[in-house]
Amino acid sequence: MSSYLPAALIASLEGLPGFNRETFERVHTAAEKITSLRVNPAKLKTPEKIQQVLQALSAEGTTKVPWSRDGYYLPARPSFTFDPFFHAGAYYVQEASSMFLEHAVRATVDVSAPLKVLDLCAAPGGKSTLLQSLISPESMLVANEVIKPRAALLADNVTKWGAANVVVTNNDPRDFGGLPGYFDLVVIDAPCSGSGLFRRDPDLVTEWSPENVILCSQRQQRILADVLPALKEDGVLIYSTCSFSREEDEVILDWLADHFELENIALDIPEDWHIVPTVTDKRNCTGYRFYPDRLKGEGLFIACFRKRSGESPRKKKEQRITLLTAKERDKLTPWIQAPADYAYLLHQDDVLILPPVIAAEIALLQQQLYIRKAGVKAGQLGPKELIPDHQLAASTWAADSIPVISLSLAQALLYLRKEDPGITTPVKGWALMQYEGMNLGWAKMLPNRMNNYYPKELRILKEITGR
Ligand code: SAM
Repeated sequence: MSSYLPAALIASLEGLPGFNRETFERVHTAAEKITSLRVNPAKLKTPEKIQQVLQALSAEGTTKVPWSRDGYYLPARPSFTFDPFFHAGAYYVQEASSMFLEHAVRATVDVSAPLKVLDLCAAPGGKSTLLQSLISPESMLVANEVIKPRAALLADNVTKWGAANVVVTNNDPRDFGGLPGYFDLVVIDAPCSGSGLFRRDPDLVTEWSPENVILCSQRQQRILADVLPALKEDGVLIYSTCSFSREEDEVILDWLADHFELENIALDIPEDWHIVPTVTDKRNCTGYRFYPDRLKGEGLFIACFRKRSGESPRKKKEQRITLLTAKERDKLTPWIQAPADYAYLLHQDDVLILPPVIAAEIALLQQQLYIRKAGVKAGQLGPKELIPDHQLAASTWAADSIPVISLSLAQALLYLRKEDPGITTPVKGWALMQYEGMNLGWAKMLPNRMNNYYPKELRILKEITGR
């Protein structure tokens, strides 16, 4: 059967566990589009709320992604842009195979413990938002992305997810060398040659070549070698790619086992998930292959290791961070209902809400890394009042006493376009704009009009006719 897949790719996959040329080519030719999303358990707190959001996207119903607590398949792709729930951070549109990270984490790490987690190659944030939903509120996730504009996108998606226990950084993997033995879990969703996404996005095929596979493999080794010192002894490394190529998958596992004191961890996986285990020739490491002709998802490779030796963590220097005075904190009382042990940090004029773990670590992180976002920015502290930030609206910490304006679907879409939704209301001053009980952002209600404070860079640009 002919297909648009490069002959050199197909030839290189022959003999790999689970590879079946005929069904592999057929599923690529059929090019079925699979749509899946993961709901946000911090924002959709009841089964009824989850159903309301899913029902709005798909009247025909949804089915569960077998390896994910919060993942669902939709029968067709709706227009997420025109769904206010999407902008409210009710869910993240994520490819189903990627959600398997949840199973790998639960099998290797005690997620109820307070953890320090690094997602090294994190943009646009699919795995970071998943990790955030898995870890406890006492844990901290550092979500890092080396490419600056992609780090900005990551920060926006983390903001939308609403959690306070995330720090977004914009660093090269080697910068993490300054944090020896620091993290309990390091996830490396490595940049790769991308063959696992060819069914979903056939245009990517033009960028594929055997030479690029080798370059990717070398870069993956560099990234791993750079970041491994930051993993503590007994800490867990989860490595994944969306490439089918042996050089980026099994070869990397053997390379890791050859060069570092890492013990490979095999996972228990139900057979009816149709995920294919693969054992490396040289060092007997087990990894897992996801083929689109065997399961409902795109191509993925994933493997887990435990580190058997470790660099000692550096002694922490005394931390100097400026917390708010009691008087300044009083100005925030009408705005915030964060837990009592959360710290309020003043950074220039901005007030950041930090959970205890981030308050304790931020000075050290700041010495080593370029921090793009930490905790939740409550707003700017002016002489009289707080000017609230979008991050506070998107978080779960905005006070219940703040006036709320409930918008219809049409009004919500106008608001998200940064237009005037034409509301008549007795509310004066700052108000939270909500859709079906979920915060979209801020507006200031003036006697004859409203000022729409939805962030300009997030506004909907697409025309409804262009759905
Ligand atoms: N984990 C992300 C998610 O689930 O949404 C997807 C990550 S994507 C597969 C790989 C990321 O690695 C990209 O965002 C890319 O910009 C970044 N990257 C590219 N070169 C890199 C390098 N040399 N070191 C670290 N990350 C790199």
